Parts: sequence; C-alpha cells; structure tokens
Amino acid sequence: MAEGSRRRTFAVISHPDAGKSTLTEALALHAAVISEAGAVHGKAGRRGTVSDWMEMERNRGISITSSVLQFGYGDAVINLLDTPGHADFSEDTYRVLAAVDSAVMLLDAAKGLEPQTLKLFEVCRAGRVPIITVINKWDRPGKEALELLDEIERTIGLHCTPLNWPVGIAGDFRGLLDRRTGEYVRFTRTAGGAKAAPQEVLKPVDAEEREGDAWVTAVEESELLSASDADLDLEAYLAEQATPVLFSSAVQNFGVRQLLDALVELAPAPAAKPTADGGERPLDAPFSAYVFKVQAGMDQAHRDKVAYARVVSGVFERGMVVTHEPTGKPFHTKYAQAMFGRERTTVETAYPGDVIGLVNANALRVGDALYVDEPVRFPSIPSFAPEHFSVIRAKDTGRYKQFRRGIEQLDQEGVVQVLRSELRGDQAPVLAAVGPMQFEVAAYRMEHEFGAVVSMEPLEYSLAMRTTPDAADKLTRLPGAELMVRSDGQALALFVNRWRYTTVKRENPDLLLEPLVGSS
Ligand code: GDP
Repeated sequence: MAEGSRRRTFAVISHPDAGKSTLTEALALHAAVISEAGAVHGKAGRRGTVSDWMEMERNRGISITSSVLQFGYGDAVINLLDTPGHADFSEDTYRVLAAVDSAVMLLDAAKGLEPQTLKLFEVCRAGRVPIITVINKWDRPGKEALELLDEIERTIGLHCTPLNWPVGIAGDFRGLLDRRTGEYVRFTRTAGGAKAAPQEVLKPVDAEEREGDAWVTAVEESELLSASDADLDLEAYLAEQATPVLFSSAVQNFGVRQLLDALVELAPAPAAKPTADGGERPLDAPFSAYVFKVQAGMDQAHRDKVAYARVVSGVFERGMVVTHEPTGKPFHTKYAQAMFGRERTTVETAYPGDVIGLVNANALRVGDALYVDEPVRFPSIPSFAPEHFSVIRAKDTGRYKQFRRGIEQLDQEGVVQVLRSELRGDQAPVLAAVGPMQFEVAAYRMEHEFGAVVSMEPLEYSLAMRTTPDAADKLTRLPGAELMVRSDGQALALFVNRWRYTTVKRENPDLLLEPLVGSS
C-alpha cells in the first residue's frame, strides 16, 4: 500500500540527557512542523501545558507521558514515538518499542553506551528492531570516534557502518564527511540552534583547502573504515547485525537532516505483521490495529483514558466502528485523536504505521486487536521483569472500594503489575514495577484520581521468576523467597537477590524457575 510504504515509524532510545528531546525538536524543525525549537516538549521554562497530573512531571523536569509526533519530510511521513526518558518508566518505553519499525540509538559522544541505552537496546534486540546509531554532542569534548565504534561493537556486537564521519575531533566539530559521496558538509552555526542550519556542501579539494589536517584525518579514517568492511550494508542493518552510524550536534541542528535522509532511505517501512495464529496481516487487508499503550489521568479535567493503537493494515477513518477482538464488541472511534506533543488534535485518517489515540477506551488493554471485516489477533506484547516490589494498602479502610478500583485500573494500564497471595490477602496486594518511581505515580494517582490515600511498604525482593503455583509449598518455607500470583494468573517466585535464587534453584532442581524478560 502506497501510504504505508511512505511511513517511517520509529523511536529514539537513549540514556537521560543524551539529547533526545533536543533531537526530537530538531527533527520536527527540519520538517518544518514547528517554527522554533522548543515548542514540542513542555520542559521547564519552555511552553507549559498544565494539569494536576503534570505537576509531578514538572517538579522533576522529566517526561512521564509518551506522545507521538507526525510530520512530513519530502514524500515520507515520519512517525516519531516519544518514549519516557526516565529510567523508571522503562515498562512504558518497552511497550512503545513494540509499535515501531526501527529505532535510533542516541549516544552522548562523551559517555558512549550508558546503562539505560543498553537496557533499551536489549529490548530492541528481543523485538528484532533495526537500529541507526547517532553519536550526539560532537560539538563538545568527548571520546574518539573510532573508540566509540569499537565500544559499540565490543559491548553489544553491532557492526558499525558509519554513513558520515566527523571532521574535527569531539569539541572541534567542523563538519561531516559524507562517506558515500566523499563530499564535505560544513557545520554552520545558528543562533541558539533555533533555525534549521543552512547546508553548505563542498567538494573534497575545497574541503582540504578549508580544513587542512582535520579533513585529511577524516578522509584517512574513513578509508581505514572502508578497508575494514565498515561501509553501509543495508541487509545487515535490517537483520539487526549492523548499525549505520551518524554524528550530530542536536542542539545546533547539525547532522539532523542526514538522520532524516537515512531514515527515509534505509529504515524499514511498515510491513505485514505476524498474527497470533501463525499467519500474517498484509498492509492492504481491511483495517486492523493493536493497542500498545493505555493511559489515563493525563488530563484531570477530562478524566479520560486513552488507548494508543498502531495501525497494522487498511485505512482508519474517524467515526469508523471497529471490533474489539477480545470481547467481540463494537468500538466507536468518533473521538480518535492524534497526539502532537501534548496537544491533541482529531485524527481523520490513518494508515499502516500510524498511531491513533482512542479516548473513552475503558475496555481496551495492551495487546488487544481492533479490526473491521476480517477478525485478527496479534501476538502478545512482551512485559518486562519487575525489579521492585511494594505492598500497597488503603489508609482509610472505608475507602476500600475506591482502592480496589484504582488498583485494577493501574494494573490494566500496566503502570504497575499487581501480585497477590493467600498469605497476604486481598487488602494488601503487592505492586511490582521496573523502577521505584512507578510506585510514586501509583500512589499519587490512587489518591488524586481514585480518592484512596494509600501507604506503601517496600519489600526487599529484587528478582521475579516465572514458576508454577505448586511451588508455594517449597517457597514459603525458604527465607528470602516468596510465591505470588500476578493478575493474569502467572505464578511468580520472588527472591531477595540473584544469589538467593541460584541457591534455591540448585537445591530444588525440580522447581520450575524461568526468567520473565521478553515473555508475556
Ligand atoms: P534528554 O534527556 O535525552 O531528552 O536530553 P535533552 O534533549 O533534554 O538534552 C540534555 C542537555 O544536553 C540539554 O542541556 C541540551 O541542551 C544538551 N544537548 C543536547 N544535544 C546537545 C548537543 O548536540 N550538543 C551540546 N553541547 N549539548 C546538547
């Protein structure tokens, strides 16, 4: 389908502070979506969209909510799915990665691969998402370019095939050598990076005359790369074995156009998606989509719940009545929305690769399929192993009903996972999360949204393994371990640490204990 093949749906994975927000703004700026960098993300001091729910986010200066940014670039339509930047929101981030066709791995030139980047990379690898690497902040002192490539290859085993090469060391960014044309793209500074930098392209002879040794070094290093088989290999990139590498200064809007061009030229367009029954849903089949994220409470005034669905096939038109696969019930899409930063606009039409926000989506859960005409179910979206556990209780037992409703809602949205055991009883479920800040969000929302003030009691467990309910007998007798059942019925064995887990496993070889990561 023509509209589908124009789409490039991707997300940026990075460690906080690598420059993701800045890059997002720069990308949108290049595509002339916004007139001035800074309008997309309501970070402190910039444009502020205020609601009670945002209070926490503003106080901390981090981005909790995800949004989708869509813009045209040439003939292409780019969908950039924003991922929460804070480490504690990785569960959400993981889910966003289930809705993209490719990812951009953004590194800070001075820091290289950082912990959060590595975690997200693993999710991309598990989800078979191809990666383009961008080494950012080249305008500031940092590591050597070759050293960074070496670090990537050694640490995560991706073969680096740079598309361009920096002229000038980190901190002395002169421009880029386009490794395929041999031309020099000169770095032109703009005031505060507010405008898209004009592009000045020079022939190699002129580049040498202007930059002297810096140019000669870049050419030599680039030739060295070619000699070691580090030229673009499209097949290896699509097979997640190689990564095209680009250098940038997002804050100066430099190297950003090259990234857009690379996305259009190399990144995969939406393709037929595997279905739960082992078949495929082709792009030109009747409309279908899957929910990858459900969110409520973004706007206190409206108390709405938004389900984000990625279109897999066909054409979505607002007002359409689609079928909700798990219940077989009709779902009216009169209020479908497109998210633009934090501003919502109504979406009229959407194609494969696009994301639609469905409001009043109380029945929709992560992983659910929506379709017209031809029923379809998609494989479940991986959920990730929690590492933090906390008992939650209603402070006022008279508000137990509100408490229950809130817990159920947060569970459904995947803000936290909810675990229970006979031992602890229904009044004291255990929340499980990828990061402890998810608990804060849960407590905040329980109070402000559901009217149940709660107390939290962190548990000392740090590891959860998949097990069977009959493991309860063994585990209750062991210190530093406990059996709990997740709301979807999965039995989990919790351990205080990996050492405890290994001992229990060694001493009880019959006990089923399997990692949770990448499973559902
Ligand atoms: P995020 O946490 O990944 O979204 O990072 P931000 O986009 O908020 O950037 C973190 C800080 O790095 C901000 O102060 C940016 O201005 C700065 N920054 C981002 N990109 C660059 C760059 O290319 N060069 C320099 N010098 N600073 C940058």
